[in-house]
Amino acid sequence: MPPTPLNQTHDPAATSWLVSANQGSDFPIQNLPYGVFRREGSAESFRVGVAIGDQVLDLTALSEAAIWACTDTADPLALVAARAACADSLNALMAEGPAAWHALRSALFLMLHATTAARTRQAVQTCLVPQAQIEHRLAVRIGEYTDFYTSLHHARNVGQAIGNGGLVSPNFFWMPIAYHGRASSLGVNQRFHRPVGQVMTPGAQTPLVGPCLRLDYELEMAIYIGQANAQGTSVPIEQAESHVFGMGLLNDWSARDFQFWEMAPLGPFLGKNFATTLSPWVVTLEALAPFRLPFSRSDNTPQPLPYLDGGSLRVEGALDIELAVALQSAQMRCQGLPAERLSRTNFKHQHWCISQMLTHHTMGGCNLRIGDVLGTGTISGPTPAEAGAMIELSQAGQRPIALTNGEIRQFLLDGDTVILQAWCERPGAARIGFGESCGEVLPALAP
Ligand code: MN
Repeated sequence: MPPTPLNQTHDPAATSWLVSANQGSDFPIQNLPYGVFRREGSAESFRVGVAIGDQVLDLTALSEAAIWACTDTADPLALVAARAACADSLNALMAEGPAAWHALRSALFLMLHATTAARTRQAVQTCLVPQAQIEHRLAVRIGEYTDFYTSLHHARNVGQAIGNGGLVSPNFFWMPIAYHGRASSLGVNQRFHRPVGQVMTPGAQTPLVGPCLRLDYELEMAIYIGQANAQGTSVPIEQAESHVFGMGLLNDWSARDFQFWEMAPLGPFLGKNFATTLSPWVVTLEALAPFRLPFSRSDNTPQPLPYLDGGSLRVEGALDIELAVALQSAQMRCQGLPAERLSRTNFKHQHWCISQMLTHHTMGGCNLRIGDVLGTGTISGPTPAEAGAMIELSQAGQRPIALTNGEIRQFLLDGDTVILQAWCERPGAARIGFGESCGEVLPALAP
């Protein structure tokens, strides 16, 4: 397969008639991510919108305003996709397939472009809502959620922190490891109570029941499945990415004390299932095309087995996505202090790529469905400052993190807000951003 072609929607010189889109926002005209929103506190229906600058373009209003008929850009396939996007989730749009996704993106790009005809621009303007006035719901009706474990640096760091010397189990080097997670507790902008569960203290005979004492976050990305495969079929690696609609941020909150007591010999359960926070905007794979990187194994670890290897993977299977984690404590909020960055890393450091995760997931005939989400697993880079979880940064609590306002953290405290951010930038491309995943820890409920 040839490398993903760039098209006019990636032109770094393109600007929008909407001034805020050209002023360094996460959402320039080259991005066009989808979300589901309504005016905050209103009784309006939730509906699909596209982020542009500091506004959201309401696709249902756009359809009702009959703009598609009067534009010169009304590709019939774009019209089909736009109708499918008049909904309270992205699922119907996803079902239309990659050609329709591309047609809609191209049409929206032309509509928002600086050279658009005045009458189109005036009509589109009536369909904009300021992002400052909206609230979000999950962009996708998520059926199932699988969480991977694809960062070698994370695996080694956690091993060090829990005292096994950074030993990584041999299977890690041969397959993208994962467990089947829980979709019901996925959300956006979550505020959740510190979970209660069982904790076994070393040397004790009986586990205690109480609030989690080692609450953590995990910096991950979400991969949104946009095309299904039939049960009993597997998806070859060369076709894997055609099943992916887009990506967002994912915070896989983790109760480490529960997790390490419960997860031998099976995977995490209550340590992970109380909340998982996604970012509201879904950035399409097409928008990420300028930020692809070759996949390679140059670190003396085994080359992938043939079914997890391929020409497209070697040319452009990895992605250059900058990532950062910030924390704002209750005290910082009271003091009027902004969130403080805890770490920064890049998605390119993952040991396994998106296509490898998807192909491995389906190799035995497991059917992925439209709206399923794959979590990438914690994303950590090669240096300590690039760690994607607090258990790594604080060495499992042995080296507390000093915050600039004098507070320290071994793990998260009540009132802490964790903010994940992602963006892509490289010479010759317009910078695009993912917005934020934001979640707050509330005190445990009284038993
Ligand atoms: Mn995870």
